[in-house]
Amino acid sequence: MAKIRYSIVAPCYNEEGNIRELHRRIGEVMDQTGETWELVLINDGSRDRTPELMRELHELDPRVHYLDFARNFGHQIAVTAGMDYAQGEAIILIDSDLQDPPELILEMIEKWKEGYKVVYAIRSERKGETWFKLFTAKLFYRLIYRITDVDIPLDTGDFRLMDRQVVDTMKRMRERHRFIRGMTSWVGFKQTGVYYVRQERFAGETSYPLRKMLKFASDAITGFSYFPLQLATYMGFIVAALSGVGMVGVILARLIGQQAFFGQATTLVMVLFLGGIQLICLGIIGEYLGRIYDEVKDRPLYVVNQAVGFEKIPEIPEFAGRAEPKVGHLS
Ligand code: UDP
Ligand code: MG
Repeated sequence: MAKIRYSIVAPCYNEEGNIRELHRRIGEVMDQTGETWELVLINDGSRDRTPELMRELHELDPRVHYLDFARNFGHQIAVTAGMDYAQGEAIILIDSDLQDPPELILEMIEKWKEGYKVVYAIRSERKGETWFKLFTAKLFYRLIYRITDVDIPLDTGDFRLMDRQVVDTMKRMRERHRFIRGMTSWVGFKQTGVYYVRQERFAGETSYPLRKMLKFASDAITGFSYFPLQLATYMGFIVAALSGVGMVGVILARLIGQQAFFGQATTLVMVLFLGGIQLICLGIIGEYLGRIYDEVKDRPLYVVNQAVGFEKIPEIPEFAGRAEPKVGHLS
């Protein structure tokens, strides 16, 4: 088979209403390049007809390759698997609900040909999302920007093009709690952005409720920053300074003859206050500890039920030195 130039990677979780249209739009756009491409779909444990539709698409158009996960592993892991299996020289990540317009890929490819290794898409506007989602997303991007150690561009999602060199580097980063956009920034290389208007979903509804968004945010923060751990130190200094001031106050009050200064209630409030701070700090340490535990267990990032259409087994630590797990046969 001819060498594949572009791999479009789209994770799918309950996207039966979208993937046919996705394939049509991607085809329209990619055929304009006049170069070879593959569409890599990942079924992330969908409960609807998504996997059947994937097989249908593959039979109809052999450029559609797909992975079927043994269960739902989450968006970031699905994208990771897609990057592991993708064979192209440039890899494009895109959501399968058509919120990211495929037409933008052409602009990304142009930048790539100019020599940029990462071209990320910046959302200049978002359509059809609640004010709550817009507000929390804005807050999230700014918070991440402030407290993490890598420069993660504001208002960018995972919609991006990455050069083979970048993807091969990221394949060596096997952390479990993944924040792909942080990881792409960490890798470095020449990067640039293109602007686009984020569209409404073509069909179906979001599978990112508040609970998942919070987990995503905490993965992003713990993955790229020690700031929460340092909070304990800061709070310790602040409380110590306050108690120093308090001590002086109490001594002065005694000196000017006030006897029954401060009562039981004050003590109680102080004890509870400090107890609260200590529990929060313990919780923060717990968050990091849990993640360390997950890393130490060293389980594979995902389990593939079936990989269809790919030429070879990916070169990643999961598969190194051992045969492809039985569940992950190529067909
Ligand atoms: N997705 C996935 N696994 C999940 C949740 C979502 O693969 O557990 C996919 C989903 O099919 C879509 C993309 O990730 O292609 C973004 O999800 P969604 O549209 O629900 O999130 P939003 O765009 O609202 O942030
Ligand atoms: Mg979406």
